[in-house]
Order: sequence, then C-alpha cells, then structure tokens
Amino acid sequence: MIKIVDKVECCGCGSCANACPSRCVKMKEDEEGFLYPIVDDFDKCIRCNICSKVCPVKNLKKEEPFVQKGYLVQHCDEQIRKESTAGGAFTAIAQYVIECGGIVFGAAYDDQLQVVHMAAEDIESLKKFRNSKYVQSNTKYTYREAEQYLKEGRLVCYSGTPCQIEGLKAYLRREYDNLITVDVVCHAVPSPLIWNKYLEMQKEKLGKKIANIRFRDKYYGYKYSAMVITGENNQELYARGVDSDQMLRAFFSNICDRPSCYNCSFKKRYRVSDFTIWDCFTVYNFSKELDDDKGTTRVLIHSSKGQEVFEKIKSRLRYLEVSPEKLTDGVKEMFQSVDMNPKRQQFFSDAKTKSGKELFEEYFPCSMKVVAERFIRVFCAKTGIYSAMKRVYKAIVKK
Ligand SMILES: Cc1cc2nc3c(=O)[nH]c(=O)nc-3n(C[C@H](O)[C@H](O)[C@H](O)COP(=O)(O)OP(=O)(O)OC[C@H]3O[C@@H](n4cnc5c(N)ncnc54)[C@H](O)[C@@H]3O)c2cc1C
Repeated sequence: MIKIVDKVECCGCGSCANACPSRCVKMKEDEEGFLYPIVDDFDKCIRCNICSKVCPVKNLKKEEPFVQKGYLVQHCDEQIRKESTAGGAFTAIAQYVIECGGIVFGAAYDDQLQVVHMAAEDIESLKKFRNSKYVQSNTKYTYREAEQYLKEGRLVCYSGTPCQIEGLKAYLRREYDNLITVDVVCHAVPSPLIWNKYLEMQKEKLGKKIANIRFRDKYYGYKYSAMVITGENNQELYARGVDSDQMLRAFFSNICDRPSCYNCSFKKRYRVSDFTIWDCFTVYNFSKELDDDKGTTRVLIHSSKGQEVFEKIKSRLRYLEVSPEKLTDGVKEMFQSVDMNPKRQQFFSDAKTKSGKELFEEYFPCSMKVVAERFIRVFCAKTGIYSAMKRVYKAIVKK
C-alpha cells in the first residue's frame, strides 16, 4: 500500500485515492496545507497495491521524443482573451469539447474561494476555469468522474498541472480516444494554507465580502498583470501588480511551494498530454502583429489527436505556427524545478502562529523600494512603454 516516506515523492495528484477499490486511501492535509495519501482504515485495505501502481511519481515514464507542433495563439473573442491568463487557447479547446457534447474538467474556485477541480458542461461555465490560480488545486474524485464519462463514450477534456495530467493518465491505465488532456507549463504550486492566510489578510484589510480573485488580471495590460479582487456586483476592491501583491511575491519567491515542486518529475518537453499551454510575454520576438499586450498563449501539440482538435478550432483563433524548438527555447519553467527559498521552513513555522497580516507583512513588507518599483511599473504600463523598458532593463542586467 502507498506510503510516503519523503514528501518530495508525492505530487498530491490524488491518483491513489481515486483508484483505491476499498476507498481506504484518503488525501489528508499536512501542517503545511498540502494533501498526502494516508490509509485510514487498515481493516478495509485488501492489499491490492493499486494505490502504488497508479502513482505517477513512483512509476515515472521515460521521456521519449516524438513529432510536435508549435503555435502562438490568440482567441478572436476579445472578452474571452481578456478574462484568460494569456491568449485564451484553453477556452478555445474547451469550447470545441462542449460543442461536441463533451465535458470539461479544470481548476476553479468553490464558494469558499478554495481552488478545486470541477466539471463544466456548458460554454458559460467555462468562465470559472479561465485565469490561472497560483495555488495547488484539489483534484478530489474528478479522475473517477472523468473515467465514468469516458466509459460512457462522452468526449472529455481534462486540464491541470503536468503532475495532475500524469496522475490522471496513470490512474486510467489505458488510452481513451475520447480523452483530450491539456497541461500548463507550471512554475510550482503554492500551499492552500498560505492561500487561506492571504484570504484572511485581505478580508480583514478590505472589510468587504470577496466575490472573486484574479491572479492574472490584465488591469495594466498583459505584460504587467495584476492580482485583482472584486466584491459583490463586480465592484473592484483591490488591484496590485506582481511587484507589490504579497501572494504574487510569495509565489515568485518560491517560499511556499509543495516540496515535490523543488524536484519536479514532470518538467520536460515531451509530455503525456495532447496540449501544453503557457505564456508568451516575448511575442515581439515572433510577430509584431500579435504584440498587442492583450495576451498570447504558446501551444505545444504532442499528439495527432491534439492536432486534429487544433484544425477544428483554428477558425476561432489568430495563430502563428512556430517550430517547437523556437517555442520552447529558453523556457526555464518547462525544464527546471524552482529553487527552494532558504526562508521556507521558517515561513511555514511562522504561519502556524502568526495571523495572515502579520505573516505577509513580515516576509513581504511594503517597503519604500516596493512602493518605488510599483510607481515606475504603473507609470510605464500606463504610458505604453512597459515592454520596451523591461527589455532595456534585461539587457542592462545581462551585461
Ligand atoms: C500553478 C500554475 C503555474 C504556472 N506557471 C507558469 C509559468 O511559470 N510560466 C508560464 O509561461 N505559464 C505558467 N502557467 C500557465 C499560464 O499561467 C496560463 O495558464 C497559460 O498561459 C494558458 O493561458 P490561457 O489564456 O490559454 O488559458 P486560461 O484561460 O488562463 O486557462 C487556465 C487553465 O489553467 C488551469 N488552471 C488554473 N489554475 C490552475 C491550478 N491551480 N491548477 C491546475 N490547473 C489550473 C485551468 O483549469 C485552465 O485549464 C502556470 C499555470 C498555473 C496554473
């Protein structure tokens, strides 16, 4: 039966809990807020060991090269593109699946603003999946649900982080022609406990009910995206960029990620999914026409099934074919795990005793430097010189 000796060995996909025929493997939260499997009823366990056999980390597949296709993509529906993290490629795939009578799984907020995987069966419901949530999503029992639909012959699209897609494939243990999988290039996934600390802080500071949070709102444009919090009636309560929002700063400082993210087994170019999607901030290197600061998705297609779907959705996209080599060149997050922040252990230890406000103010204070950087970034974004200034800055740092 599954036993996690070292936490680095578990990505938290939940494949084991989904697969257990006796329902005795459960995902339980540890003191850092991440889910790990435990066998909660030894009498019920029939020692079939399926839980170990479906673990994508324990049964790591060798990466084999195959033919791929690469594209830069922008959804033609500007509202969809605006609501999406990048160019809205995911929604285009998902719309096609729904129109074929299929069902789509992805990460969304529940009514407590917890990030969980759920299904959507109509076009309107796809909205909840748009925009990346930089928190580990709880897949719950969605692998089982997806399997049920697949067996019924319905078209299913399942999206998630690379470990969640590898987990689903390991759980299913066979190929389905009616399954389309989409993974993202993933920096790392932060702790749901730290997310709750952030929510607690924001609720206290704003003093209003939070209805929605967007990690990657295009408030100041795509290249300088912002955390935006809205209240009832879509009233805007808060907007801060990557330089000053404390959750985004925590995310990019690698202080609160899942232990397995620091040694991720799924950072690679040749993947088990049909599509890999990620950002394209350097769109000017590929096309001047597409460089409109409204968002572009890089799409890497791994299978003929993926290519067939792409042919069907082309009419709703502006796109440019790019060689997979050029598309993936220099994409660190695709190949390299993040480095653990040396303050990680202390951060989690403090999270046990400090309030959300105390924790974030101690580790990510709003110093003069932060205020100045924010002022400069907002000024550059508003005057339309953000991208050019960033390039100049990068060139100086490189020297
Ligand atoms: C945790 C995380 C880290 C990422 N890191 C990077 C990175 O380092 N570099 C980069 O270029 N791109 C990264 N991305 C991908 C990027 O943010 C966009 O998702 C991608 O560019 C697709 O944009 P889109 O406009 O086509 O889709 P969108 O409309 O933004 O669709 C979002 C998709 O992401 C899924 N999703 C959202 N949140 C989660 C979550 N918490 N867990 C699992 N799935 C989720 C949804 O189900 C949906 O399929 C990351 C995404 C996530 C979720």
